Amino acid sequence: MSYERLENCPICGKDDFKNFLVVTDNAVSKESFVLVECENCSFKFTNPRPDAASIGAYYESEEYISHTNTKSGIINRAYHVVRSITTKQKVELINRHAPTKGTILDYGCGTGVFLSACKKDGWEIRGVEPNEKARKASSEETGEIVASELQQISGEKFDVITLWHVLEHIHTLNETMAELLSLLHEDGTLIVAVPNADSHDAQQYKENWAAYDVPRHLYHFTQGTMKRFLKKHKMKLEEVLPMKFDAYYVSMLSEKHKDGKGNMINSVVNGFKSNSYAEKNGNDYSSLIFVAKRK
Ligand SMILES: [Zn+2]
Repeated sequence: MSYERLENCPICGKDDFKNFLVVTDNAVSKESFVLVECENCSFKFTNPRPDAASIGAYYESEEYISHTNTKSGIINRAYHVVRSITTKQKVELINRHAPTKGTILDYGCGTGVFLSACKKDGWEIRGVEPNEKARKASSEETGEIVASELQQISGEKFDVITLWHVLEHIHTLNETMAELLSLLHEDGTLIVAVPNADSHDAQQYKENWAAYDVPRHLYHFTQGTMKRFLKKHKMKLEEVLPMKFDAYYVSMLSEKHKDGKGNMINSVVNGFKSNSYAEKNGNDYSSLIFVAKRK
């Protein structure tokens, strides 16, 4: 296992950080990691972190369900019901921003559920997924060859590029974003969904907030830092949308982190509280979808 320490903030490049929180990897390794906050731009990130060659081990777990399709356990069952609703909403979103159905690249496509829905809706799809198990599942789900890395996709341009809870996992954050944008048509749409470290559930659960998900989540975006990141890549924010189910899902996992058992009533109450807070306080939902186009 080897770790790397970032000397410069991935967004603003400055080198002055303060320790923000110590978070334990409850899902897999039980190791603790430090989150730092940039003194200049407030960007929060996991530092030090396992390097790109070592991170794979932290994804090897039955509990890490975003890469599997098992239907055991109440959290997983809820996850699958919600997923079919949110998949439909995601397809509606891309159709709203790109009414002429064209080509879509889903970077970090997981098991391919979203891409499969896009294909059925008339989109020409491409997927990239580094995890081998998930990639095989996504190939079966979509009936298409799914690439293992971005380098395999060349000479193609896309109308829409999506990253659903993926950006926070990428070691080469700026390089990958630049590469992705080189594949986006001039008038194309970039859609990035990430957990929101300014949400009510994040503030409430603190080190138990499941969406810190260290060390798999390398970055902990907020609306402010995401706007800054997009601006750095010459992208203009078109709209920010909530992912309201995430408040309940993340609260459920966070309750489980607290005592190892979980508490369904608290989860529902805190999920509801988080969404109500966000409605009144500048859209700070548990997870947010950022839609951007070129300036
Ligand atoms: Zn910074």
